[in-house]
Amino acid sequence: MGSVVVRFAPSPTGYLHIGGARTAIFNWLYARKYNGKFILRIEDTDAERSTVEAIQGILDGLRWLGLQWDEGPNFQSHYTSDHLSAAHRLIESGYAYKCFCSKEVLEEKRQAAQAAKKTYQYDGTCRNLPAQTIADLEAAHRPYVIRLKVPRTEGAVVFDDQVCGRVEKRYQDIEDFVLVRANGMPLYVLANAVDDIRDGVTHIIRGQDGLANTPKQILVYQGLGAKLPLFAHMSLTLDPQKTKISKRKHGTQVAIHYYKEKGFLPWAMVNFLALLGWATPESREFFSKEELIQAFNLDGIGRTNSVFNIQPDDPKFITDPKLLSINAHYLRSMPIEELLPYLKEQLLASSLWNPAFEKDQKQWFLHTVDLIRSRFHLLTDFSTLGAAYFGETFQMDQSAVKKNLFEQGRVHPWITALADELAVLDPFNAQTLEAMLHSFLSRYQLKPGKLINAVRTAVTGQSVGPEFIQVLLCLGPERIARRLRQVPGLSFDVKNNS
Ligand code: GLU
Repeated sequence: MGSVVVRFAPSPTGYLHIGGARTAIFNWLYARKYNGKFILRIEDTDAERSTVEAIQGILDGLRWLGLQWDEGPNFQSHYTSDHLSAAHRLIESGYAYKCFCSKEVLEEKRQAAQAAKKTYQYDGTCRNLPAQTIADLEAAHRPYVIRLKVPRTEGAVVFDDQVCGRVEKRYQDIEDFVLVRANGMPLYVLANAVDDIRDGVTHIIRGQDGLANTPKQILVYQGLGAKLPLFAHMSLTLDPQKTKISKRKHGTQVAIHYYKEKGFLPWAMVNFLALLGWATPESREFFSKEELIQAFNLDGIGRTNSVFNIQPDDPKFITDPKLLSINAHYLRSMPIEELLPYLKEQLLASSLWNPAFEKDQKQWFLHTVDLIRSRFHLLTDFSTLGAAYFGETFQMDQSAVKKNLFEQGRVHPWITALADELAVLDPFNAQTLEAMLHSFLSRYQLKPGKLINAVRTAVTGQSVGPEFIQVLLCLGPERIARRLRQVPGLSFDVKNNS
């Protein structure tokens, strides 16, 4: 393994969402590119907001996307003693101190600052308490928090972010922030830095919402004498109104599992999410896994926020058109054998799976999938638009039925005759079919389009689809004849409807 160590560190307070998945993808790509280590850390120290379901959702989502981690999941809550001992080391080396100020006193000071229209900052009352005073207060069991002693000199925390460039935060704008609460619980700002130091994380790739904490975390690193990692704070993903994407506002469309359920392929998701805020100089759109790993670099991460076209108020809207087109691209072009496991899952879920598709009907099945996928966008299309190929129950597109099978309120009168002729066509192949249809058209004085549209609708339920003769060959004479005879509203001899 190389020397790169990265991590994805979600707080398990909800399902894996688009922004989190994107952060995970960037870290995973970076680790794979440099043959490094990708750690999964669950930042579950906020016990009230963390849930078991959320943890499971994150693990499932990452697995579905194919983002295998090399270490973890490490649960932050299991490392409380590391965090506390780091805080005590900071006290011993003079980088932190115990603060005994009561909540009430601090609240009064805050209100006074507010009344005077000044920004409140902890005033450092306990920064330099004499050792004896500290000992006395402790002996009296006075509760205390542990605060970091921010330098009170001119100067600033300065670092070069790989995405945002040089970032500077003046010491005077950072208060002596709390590292450990009065109840003995470490704060996130401490726990996060201590875990990154312990795990030897070399690159912290996260969203720009993490930037506000970085100067404080750098002070923790410095106090502990640890080598600083490189930081890369990625731009955010916004909705079309340029506001932050959130579960509250956008509902389930922000969750990765929504895309699984809607019939997206995991690699299409990864490819699409990688392009939210990252690009190659030539704006390439499609990448195999190896190509994406090769192409990925931190320089390609843009500073401007990206937009994910999410429309929670439109019930017909599935997703960003670009994501849909990337999914269609993979669905139509990936080797059929690779598509099979996804298809099987999809067809099983919709009761359209037949074990024969893997056995004696395998050739037929692969051919059919290849034929029909050229118009599909989603895996779910196989069980909706493609249901007629795999089973006997399928939905008819009612407007197609009305338009293509009826004329002046009546079903085309020649449908039954066509069914009879097709049923006995022997041999049943492209040449015999074409010849038979040709003769049928001239005998009944029909235009080809009328016949094609009517038959296609009757046998597949859809008005559009793959090449007509191919559709007929794929379905075979019995199914075609049966479906033609079953056209709604057709008066036919029930005995013939075998
Ligand atoms: N737990 C933090 C979050 O979910 C991530 C912090 C980080 O990556 O440093 O926002």
